[in-house]
Amino acid sequence: MRMSRAAVAMAMELTFLGTGSAYPSPSRGASALVLRYQGECWLFDCGEGTQTQFMRSQLRAGKIAKIFITHLHGDHLFGLPGLLCTVSLQSSPLSNKQPVEVYGPVGLRKFLRTSMNLSHSQLLFPYVVHELVPTEDQCFPEEWREPCIQKEDDQLHPQELPGKTIYLNPQEDCYNLVTDEQFIVKAFRLFHRIPSFGFVIEEKKRPGRLQTQKLKDMGVQPGPLYGKLKNGQTITLNNGVRIFPMDVLEAPIPGRKICILGDCSRIVGDMGKKLCSDADVLVHEATLDDSQSDKAEEHGHCTPKTAAEFAKSCKVKRLILTHFSQRYKPTALTNAGDDDVMELKTQAELVLEGQEVTLAEDFMVIEIPFNKTKQQIIPTK
Ligand SMILES: [Zn+2]
Ligand SMILES: [Zn+2]
Repeated sequence: MRMSRAAVAMAMELTFLGTGSAYPSPSRGASALVLRYQGECWLFDCGEGTQTQFMRSQLRAGKIAKIFITHLHGDHLFGLPGLLCTVSLQSSPLSNKQPVEVYGPVGLRKFLRTSMNLSHSQLLFPYVVHELVPTEDQCFPEEWREPCIQKEDDQLHPQELPGKTIYLNPQEDCYNLVTDEQFIVKAFRLFHRIPSFGFVIEEKKRPGRLQTQKLKDMGVQPGPLYGKLKNGQTITLNNGVRIFPMDVLEAPIPGRKICILGDCSRIVGDMGKKLCSDADVLVHEATLDDSQSDKAEEHGHCTPKTAAEFAKSCKVKRLILTHFSQRYKPTALTNAGDDDVMELKTQAELVLEGQEVTLAEDFMVIEIPFNKTKQQIIPTK
C-alpha cells in the first residue's frame, strides 16, 4: 500500500533498543526505547550500551531531541553520559543544534553534571535537565531519600542550561512535562524500589480533511482561503457569506496515545489508569513470570498478570511487555530447557481474554497507526 506524503510525515513508531532487566546481555540490551515522529527521536530510558544499540538499529542518535528517564536505577540510566558524548563527537560545531531536553527524577541533574564534570566531557550542543519531584509513597520506606533539589547557586556544566523542577500537580495528580503544537506529555507516579514514573505521550487531534467539493459547489476555488478554513478560521466571501470551518471540515482525526511505564509493582494513585485509558499502545514491564509473583513484588516489579490487569482496566488497544529478566531469551535464541518467554505472553493473554499481547525484543519496531474515526460528512443541502 502506498502511503500519502502526509501520512508518511505523520508516521509514528516505537523501536525497542533494550528489553532486558538489570544489565545488558548479548540477547537483550538494558532498557531503552525510542519513539520516532517526523524524523525526531524521543528516547525513553538509557541503559548501559544504548549507544551501540542505536548504531545497530535504523535510528540515528543524533536525532534525539528529548530524553525521558523513568527512574534512577543503573539499568535505565548508565548509558546516558556516554551517549551524549558520542552524539557530540558525531555532530558539527556549526550545527546550531537545539538543546537536548532531559526529563527524569530529582538527582538526574546531579548525576549527569557529576559524570560530565569528572570526566572533563564537553558537548558541542546545550542540554537541559527538568527534574520531577517524587512523593514518599512511591517506594519502600527504607529506600526513600529526601529529594535534594538544586540550589540557585549550584554550578552548571558549561553546556547545561537551567532546567525546571516539576512538582506533582495536586489537582491533576500528575506532572505536566511538555505541551507543544503536536503533543502533550504527562508523567504519573509508580511504586518501585526507588521512585519511578510512567509517561503518557498524547498527540493532539488534527483537523479533519477539507471537503473541497463542497467548497467548490459554494463557489470557493482552491487558494489561501482553504488554508484558513483548515486552520480553524472562519472566512467571509465577497458576497458577505460566512463559512465556518465546522461546515466544511470532516470530523477531526483523533491523536494517538502512547504510555511508557518504568519499573513498578503497582501504580500510585488513580491517575495512571485515567491517563492511560484507551491508549493505542501501553509499554509495561513484566520482569518475571506469574509463578514468581512474590519475588517480583518484593523487588518492586510486575508479572504478566499484573501488567495485563492494568492494561485491561485501561482498555488499551495494544499491550507490549518488556524489561524481562535476562533468564528469558528472545524466542529465536531459546534452547531446550531454557525458561520460555512465550509463557509470559500466554499469562498476559489469559487476563486479556485472547487479545494479543506483544513481547518486546531488541530492535523490534512497532508502527502506531492513525486512529480512524467514522467520517461524519454532513450532506450539503
Ligand atoms: Zn530496571
Ligand atoms: Zn528499577
